[in-house]
Amino acid sequence: MPGLKPSASDAFFFGWKDMTQMHRGKVYLIGAGPGAADLLTLRAAQRLALADVVLIDDLVDRVVVREHCPHARVIEVGKRGGCRSTPQAFINRLMLRCARQGRTVVRLKGGDPFVFGRGAEEHDFLSRHGIEVEIVPGLTAGLSVPALAGIPVTHRALARAVTLVTGHGANDDDPDWSRLATSGATLVIYMGLKRIEAITSSLIAAGMSAQTPAAVVAHGTLPNETRVLGTLASIAAATRRRGLNAPALIVVGDVVNVMVRQAYGDCAIDAHAATVSRS
Ligand code: SAH
Repeated sequence: MPGLKPSASDAFFFGWKDMTQMHRGKVYLIGAGPGAADLLTLRAAQRLALADVVLIDDLVDRVVVREHCPHARVIEVGKRGGCRSTPQAFINRLMLRCARQGRTVVRLKGGDPFVFGRGAEEHDFLSRHGIEVEIVPGLTAGLSVPALAGIPVTHRALARAVTLVTGHGANDDDPDWSRLATSGATLVIYMGLKRIEAITSSLIAAGMSAQTPAAVVAHGTLPNETRVLGTLASIAAATRRRGLNAPALIVVGDVVNVMVRQAYGDCAIDAHAATVSRS
């Protein structure tokens, strides 16, 4: 990708000193995994050790930077849904500026940078401005959090597909719940906690059985992980009763019963949803 020629307005924005050192830096877009610091990949740890500057999301445990790049400058750019967030344009410009100053920049995100992480937008922005970018994938929460909770997202006898979907959309760009309800795939819903009532009723209205097993896992892989089990009909109320907060995933499908069987033996879950705290 050819670099952009520096313009007078670039010089105004970035300063002449930065302009003389343009295009030497590099940006690593790194996924830090779902939460627990030891779920970081070896490649991520190696690249973090090179960092001069780390722009970090609020989902990432600070232990990761303390352990792997204690001397890097850390800039917090959390964007948690519903809370005060750093505008994406600001994050983009900051990465660009640091890279143009010749610095090695790490953009450290929760999970995988390309799964509901805006990694593609950042990659595109930086590439268009001539900055070299390397992607370091991470374990996405939607696959690793259920796994550690004992839920296999696919299973030869129970689900031959899995759909990762966001529950966050405003009403008019909602996922097509009616198509998802009849797909037979396990549904793993990110960012759905706030709208869990609307999501579960949409799935039932679209024809999914109200008795379909469902689970919510909050703060997955972390010491404060909490799991709530139920059915599509009961999970929203059970989750509210338990007062769970983000980050949390909703998992819907027969595969949830695999975890239930592990936790409780063969008793079926019904309207009385259960809460399991991590032991
Ligand atoms: N890029 C991230 C997802 C970012 S969107 C990834 O690949 O995992 C943020 C959402 O991810 C949260 O709202 C929640 O739904 C989910 N999430 C992230 N970490 C989680 C965790 N430790 N436990 C449960 N859900 C988590």
